[in-house]
Amino acid sequence: MKYVYLFGNGQADGTAEMKNTLGGKGANLAEMNHLKIPVPPGFTITTDVCSFYYKNNNSFPEELDSAVDNALKNTEDIMGSKFGDLENPLLVSIRSGARQSMPGMMETVLNVGLTSKTIPGLIKKTGSNRFVYDAYRRLIMMYADVVMEKAAGHEPKNGIGIRHKLESLIDVHKKELNYNNDTDLSGEDWKNLSDKFKTTIKDNLGSDFPDDPKEQLWGAIMAVIKSWNGERAINYRRIEKIPEKWGTAVNVQTMVFGNMGESSATGVAFTRNPATGENKFFGEWLVNAQGEDVVAGLRTPNPLNEETKTEGTKNLPSLELSMPSIYSELNKIRLNLEKHYKDMQDIEFTIQEGKLWMLQTRVGKRNGSAAIKMAVDMANQGMIDKNTALLRVRPEQLDELLHPMLDIKSEKEAVLLGKGLPAGPGGATGRAVFTADDAAEWHKKGEKVILIRDETSPEDVHGMHASEAILTAKGGMTSHAALVARGWGKCCIVGCSELQINIKNKEVNINGKKISEGDWITMNGTSGNIYKDRLNLIDADPDTHPEYKILMKWADEKRKLKIRTNAESPNDAFQAIKFGAEGIGLCRTEHMFFDESRILAVRKMIFADNEKDRRNAVMKLLPFQKEDFTGILKAMEGKPVTIRLLDPPLHEFMTLTKEQEISLAENLNVDVEIVKNRVSALHELNPMLGHRGCRLGIAYPEITEMQATAILEAAAELTKNGASVFPEIMIPLVGTVSEYVDQESIVRKVAKTVMEKYALELQYLVGTMIELPRACLTADEIAEHAEFFSFGTNDLTQTTYGFSRDDIGSFLPDYLERNILPEDPFQSLDVKGVGKLVSMAVKLGRNVNNHLKIGICGEHGGDPSSIHFCKENGLDYVSCSPFRVPIARLAAAQSELK
Ligand code: PEP
Ligand code: MG
Repeated sequence: MKYVYLFGNGQADGTAEMKNTLGGKGANLAEMNHLKIPVPPGFTITTDVCSFYYKNNNSFPEELDSAVDNALKNTEDIMGSKFGDLENPLLVSIRSGARQSMPGMMETVLNVGLTSKTIPGLIKKTGSNRFVYDAYRRLIMMYADVVMEKAAGHEPKNGIGIRHKLESLIDVHKKELNYNNDTDLSGEDWKNLSDKFKTTIKDNLGSDFPDDPKEQLWGAIMAVIKSWNGERAINYRRIEKIPEKWGTAVNVQTMVFGNMGESSATGVAFTRNPATGENKFFGEWLVNAQGEDVVAGLRTPNPLNEETKTEGTKNLPSLELSMPSIYSELNKIRLNLEKHYKDMQDIEFTIQEGKLWMLQTRVGKRNGSAAIKMAVDMANQGMIDKNTALLRVRPEQLDELLHPMLDIKSEKEAVLLGKGLPAGPGGATGRAVFTADDAAEWHKKGEKVILIRDETSPEDVHGMHASEAILTAKGGMTSHAALVARGWGKCCIVGCSELQINIKNKEVNINGKKISEGDWITMNGTSGNIYKDRLNLIDADPDTHPEYKILMKWADEKRKLKIRTNAESPNDAFQAIKFGAEGIGLCRTEHMFFDESRILAVRKMIFADNEKDRRNAVMKLLPFQKEDFTGILKAMEGKPVTIRLLDPPLHEFMTLTKEQEISLAENLNVDVEIVKNRVSALHELNPMLGHRGCRLGIAYPEITEMQATAILEAAAELTKNGASVFPEIMIPLVGTVSEYVDQESIVRKVAKTVMEKYALELQYLVGTMIELPRACLTADEIAEHAEFFSFGTNDLTQTTYGFSRDDIGSFLPDYLERNILPEDPFQSLDVKGVGKLVSMAVKLGRNVNNHLKIGICGEHGGDPSSIHFCKENGLDYVSCSPFRVPIARLAAAQSELK
């Protein structure tokens, strides 16, 4: 097996297609060589080595040693220098690179190859004592942290790691000599500090910093592989659903330096603006700096060009004017990369003494709004076709467009605390927290939080994920916080230098105003403004985004699945129509029963011990229900509306306070004890499996009769007035065909009476929810009678797994943590189990009735992967909450293309 792939000098063993073997970074380094883009030469150790390592008790394949030696030789030949050479030593970087980018989650070691023996040669070659010792101390710091502490499994005492200890030594040294900046330190200073570092490392970690280049190289390779199973990488994989078995590749590459003086620089850039999608070259750079200086946000980076300067950066030097010929070369590479990859790229570059080197290219992360704009623009430019454009936007990314923005009026009146860089658009409000752990903890308790940090690091991702928004004091638009938040479409403001965070007291001072833990703040991630208190958020209007409309039109042309919505009120219905709903797939009628004016009649109905009293009580609800259905059928004119008959267990209507018990007793003219006894008799041990669904209509046929009358009379009156309405009456929780037939016959009888009364024909359907395993198993029998099926996958998941849908939260986190379940089955359909029942029911049902209309109305109807399953299994429609309708439209289009 080939474990090592070479690249350099316009040649490479690998290609961009080989991400599975070479990881994203390695595959693209190879590809850039094929494109004749200047890349420092090196080699990639494959992901197979990582898998081998973990499968074979943390050991490497035997052949790896000689393969690495050969690869190193190839690199040395290209560079004309030698690893470990006394006069002309080659230095290398060791970086991770998984199939899918995991920004900052794994480790990197730079400047490998610097030892007491190679240092003099490099000083002679570069003529700079300072440069070499600065590089050396960086190597020691990284190596001690990544290889000697983390990879070796050393738990730092009191949580203070070796890196922090070494950084403190620099601070002490600077204080002693009255230095303000790292740049004030001389070569001699760094040399002395390097010696101190080594002693501290020996004292704390018990071993010597290695002085042998090969030992450094293998230590770093092993540490990168180990970082695949580091805590933060595992956390990130869980959030991003990246399989553990993928493993990481390791890239060993010649070092190039952006900190070799004023003709050297380093930067990161995007071929288009990742926040807005605009087709403008966008990035940040720093003269005389290492790549980590830009990303860590310790120095404020400069804008790449004049065109993308903002109010805040207008006085900073652009690369375009500072190094025009390099900028022009970089811009050519930008166009070359976009033309080749046909997508926006995120690139890293270094300029070493006037020569440009590309260190990385990868598909750039972008927020939803930018993803839509880029996809549509690129299709219109002819760079990609419409189908590719549709696949470029993750359906969940539409969420960002549909998400709230700050209410301008309340923003005007609000107290402005400060301003930072707008890294993630949209509005957010939440309570201030200051550590990632606190963010996760508070979130678990149901609180909305905003995480405030000096800067974020990959260790913070769990807390960032749990927060409504992220606010940092340091960092630019390409800092860790900005990149991660943008990937998730979260509101984010970075680089707000007015923040003075006191982490010990958990408070922050912003321009003289104190915000303590738990205080509400609000952020406008589009402008960068931060406000005191909780401000109003208003729903977004995606119609103001022209490319969104175009993309949705393309999606509608492509998809075959119909998209309906779950809605109970005309308002929800209108909202859903605005988002593109083509009907209602589930109108839950029970919510209509809780209204103040109706609940007494409902309770009287439940109390009645004879049919006459019950009928009297139930029929009091008829006019109300008729009004409800008129409203909703009218709002959905011309579109089908599935109305479900009463479903919940009766006790839900009978949770009474003492006062309510007394008032009900008065109303019923009975003793309060009788009320109490009846309430306790209604108590059920497993109400979700109790007296609910069609079991209610069977015990109390008057309810079915009243609801059917209300629906059909509303439909008849609307029809008389010239409207076209299509009610579909749905019987819930059917387990046997006889239950269905019993209820259907009531509905049909009512329909006959109504049509006679109004002297017209109504177009209506009667069908059932399929939400019990027995209904799936006997779907053929039910389909002989029912005109439609709608899968209630909430109850079907509950009854298939035997997991209570209300109590799963108590054990689900353990299940997910230990990989016993891949995800919450109430969110994403369990294809293997619940899905098998669904497929079976579809087949059985369509075998007897090939016109059977079939849809889904459980929560899964708005989940993209479940939608894909629905399409594969021949469903006619999915139904989801109004705000998920656009997501479902796009997911349905994508399911035609996958
Ligand atoms: C279902 O069970 O999937 C369903 C849609 O019904 P409900 O959630 O109201 O029980
Ligand atoms: Mg249900």
